[in-house]
Order: sequence, then C-alpha cells, then structure tokens
Amino acid sequence: MSPPVYLDHAATTPVDPRVAAAMAGCLGADGVFGNPASAGHFHGEAALERVEAARAAVAAAVGADPDEVVFTSGATEADNLAIFGVAEHARPRGRHLVTARTEHKAVLDPCHELERRGWQVTYLTPDERGRIAPERLAAALRADTVLVSLMHVNNEIGTVQDVAAFAAVCERHGGARLHVDAAQSVGKTALDFKAGGADLVSLSAHKSYGPKGVGALLVSRRRGVRIEPRQFGGGQERGLRSGTVATHQVVGMAAAFALAVAQREAEATRLAALRERLWCGLEAHGGAIRNGAPQDTVAAILNVSFAGVEGESLLAAVAPRISVSTGSACTSASGEPSYVLRALGRDERLAEASLRFGLGRSTSAADVEEAIEAVGAALSRLRRIGGGCVTAP
Ligand SMILES: *Cc1c(COP(=O)(O)O)cnc(C)c1O
Repeated sequence: MSPPVYLDHAATTPVDPRVAAAMAGCLGADGVFGNPASAGHFHGEAALERVEAARAAVAAAVGADPDEVVFTSGATEADNLAIFGVAEHARPRGRHLVTARTEHKAVLDPCHELERRGWQVTYLTPDERGRIAPERLAAALRADTVLVSLMHVNNEIGTVQDVAAFAAVCERHGGARLHVDAAQSVGKTALDFKAGGADLVSLSAHKSYGPKGVGALLVSRRRGVRIEPRQFGGGQERGLRSGTVATHQVVGMAAAFALAVAQREAEATRLAALRERLWCGLEAHGGAIRNGAPQDTVAAILNVSFAGVEGESLLAAVAPRISVSTGSACTSASGEPSYVLRALGRDERLAEASLRFGLGRSTSAADVEEAIEAVGAALSRLRRIGGGCVTAP
C-alpha cells in the first residue's frame, strides 16, 4: 500500500533536494567542513565565508541587514532568546509582558515561566477569525510593559496578523519592544523586517523546505535593540548565542529561504485554488465549519471543525489515507483540544473534531480529491455510528 498523502506542511516540510545538495557540500573531507570560528587557516576561513554568505542570503530573504541575523537551533530557541533576553535586559524598567492566547507554545511557555519568576503577563484574546485588534493591544499596555510578543502567521489556522499596526502601537507607547514569531511566514506571505517595524523576529528553516534544527532571531540594529544572552561560551553570534555555528545547517536555511521567496507568489496563487477546492469538497459533506477567514489566512493552511463526530476517531479514520494533524504537532501529543480553536470560541467538542490541512509544494489536485474522499468516507461511517442508526444490542 502507498503511504498516506502528506497534508501536514504546516508542521514540517521535506528538505528540497537543492537544499540538501548545498548542505552536503559542508560536511565531508572534500567539502567545507572547517570551524567557521577558526580564523587564520584555510579551512576555517572557507567555512566562515559560507556562513557569512548564508547570513546575507537569510537577511535578504526577510528584508534585514546581515548583522541583524543571530543563528539559533530553530524558532523555539529564537523565541526563548527574545523573550527572556528582553525581560532580563529591561528588568529595571518593568516586568510586564503582553502576548496572545493563540501563540505557539514556544512563546507561551517562556511567558508562563516568567510569571513563575515574578513577571506579569497579559494574554490577549483574538476575534473569532483569529485576529488580534491593535486597539486591544494598545489597551493592554502599561507603564511597566517592556515586551509585546505576537506572531505573524498562526500555525494552526493560518491567520496573518497586522504586524505593522502592532509596531505602531508599541512605537507610540515608547517603552515596549515588539517580538514577532514568524516561523510560518517565509514562502507563505511577505515578510519585511525593516518595513514591518518589529524589534525582534523569530525564524525557522524546516517550515520552508529547509532542515530541522536551525533558525534565527533577527535583532534590529537600527532600532538599537539590546537583549541579554541565555547561553555563554565562545561568544559567537555577537555574544548573543555562543556555540559553533553549524555551517551545513545555516547554508541549508539560506538556500531554502531563497527558493521559498522566489516561488512565493506563484505558490500562493496555486495553493489558494487548491485550498478553495478542498474547502468546497469538505463543506459538501455537511457539518463543516471553517476556522479562520480566507481573506486573512495564508493559502497553505485550511482548518476545519466537523460537527457530530469525535475528534480522536476522526483522525484515526483518515490516518491511513492522509497525514493531517488536529492542531500543532507540539500539542497533539497531549491529546488536549486545540487551545487556539478554544480561544476563537469553539467549544471543546468542536475544537477536538478539527483537522488542519497544510498544503505545500508537493500537494497536487489529486491529493486534494483524495483528502475530500477520505474525510467524506470517515464522516459518514462515524456519523452512522454516532447518530444511532446502528442499533445497539
Ligand atoms: C514550528 C513553530 C515554532 C517552533 O519552531 P522550531 O524551529 O521547530 O523550534 C515556533 N512557532 C511557530 C509559529 C511554529 O510554527
């Protein structure tokens, strides 16, 4: 039997073969395997050159300057560095943060930890489409607010937030830095660090056909952002992230980002058509509720709740034919209903009976038809059982 169709591109993506080739060139004896921090000899210098070229390419892909890029092990580490880094640095000025209930765990958990250590955090609630109103943010800011952390593209429902409006609110406040988790953004929507006005932005390679285990934190130089490091050692990455930079990983991230940006507009158009076909097909099965509105979500994500079925059974029923998630890969292990959908106002049962379809580079029209079919078959079987048409002995 063939493996199920992969419709989980919001959780991770395969590495593009061109990206893998670039990475392979930085590993073996005949490649650029040196330590980029070993200046002064040939092999170290060659590696440093690759790392700096990668830094320039990542910066170019997101509208940043090369010296604003701090490489990390992924967006989780970048989020932690931004949140703890600002909180520690601004500690004498205030200990209040603002974020949203719909953020990724990599933002929420550092906030919870700061609360445990004596900071105060305000959690904003989105509207039913997943949007955070800038006025709500403005109302939550206090004299002692030092950081606002709000994401760009939501990983479960795909909602794109108005980062420029958040930046304007923080600018008026004067004392609050803006951190943006943009792990889902590259290749799915336009991201311009300078124009967007954020102070700090987290990036990840593996949501954009790059390798897992690498990302970056953009730290605005122009805006004079200062953060405390969390990790100490060799002083790499301007002292903000000590540790040998993984040449093959950052080279992979740079190659993946360049491809993603080059293909972005064409892909968005193609995926938008596929997503609307998918939604029409699912809607025709009855009892489908769309989470997130098409006009403010990226084309790559469709999240749907299904009335009249139980979540776990639905996922199990479709699993042999399509690989989809109920929500974040990081929370699906807990078996809890999606807190993102709960924050949008969905009740527990509906939040549980939801599927997130992630469309990507490998998604074809045939894959979409397979998904519509598979969900339809699962729904009619489960609803027959749940609806009492099958009489119990
Ligand atoms: C995947 C993801 C993360 C975590 O990124 P890693 O690179 O896997 O650590 C953080 N935030 C969002 C929105 C994500 O989608």
